[in-house]
Amino acid sequence: PLFSELGLAEPIMQAIRDMGYERPTPIQGKAIPQVLAGKDVLGVAQTGTGKTASFTLPLLERLAGGRARARMPRSLILEPTRELALQVAENFKLYGKNLRLTHALLIGGESMAEQREVLNRGVDVLIATPGRLIDLFERGGLLLTQTSTLVIDEADRMLDMGFIPDIERIVSLLPRQRQTLFFSATMAPEIRRLADAFLSAPVEITV
Ligand code: AMP
Repeated sequence: PLFSELGLAEPIMQAIRDMGYERPTPIQGKAIPQVLAGKDVLGVAQTGTGKTASFTLPLLERLAGGRARARMPRSLILEPTRELALQVAENFKLYGKNLRLTHALLIGGESMAEQREVLNRGVDVLIATPGRLIDLFERGGLLLTQTSTLVIDEADRMLDMGFIPDIERIVSLLPRQRQTLFFSATMAPEIRRLADAFLSAPVEITV
């Protein structure tokens, strides 16, 4: 397909053109319409396939369409490492540059006080590593009751790094009624079990 066929609004299309992207990658072509339709997605894809834009672009589109009353975080993107979280935040900025959405990058090694300040001002999207998100939650002031979209990226690395209990805890703080997108480079039985636990009637996409 072409980007123009995927259902993304002009401010996002403009950002895509500015990036110089000509066509959606296979995962983007398959995932973007499903995410826009509100489906849960199980994506089996490696880094380098354009996976990040496959969830960032439709999330931006959905967020741009509505607005939370008290500017509580409406989307949470979980990444296993600071580096990946930084990359996603960078993508979010580039693709969302023509939208008025805000985000917070919640990763270790950065000032907790500053992150709390950003949260207090109100943000639309959280991009976080699991440990730091839990630390912030435990200190209070972080409410996830309006966070109705969850992305669990690089699930196989989350598993290798021992983050699954943290993720289970985080998921328990989110509304039951939500959209979940789950990405993994591999689909080992353990990962499959996690996907079954976190997703509801997902569309499975393998590239
Ligand atoms: P990712 O797999 O998300 O880490 O993306 C890998 C690289 O592909 C990044 O540098 C993106 O900027 C780039 N990219 C993502 N989507 C496209 C596209 N449709 N056309 C060209 N490059 C892309």
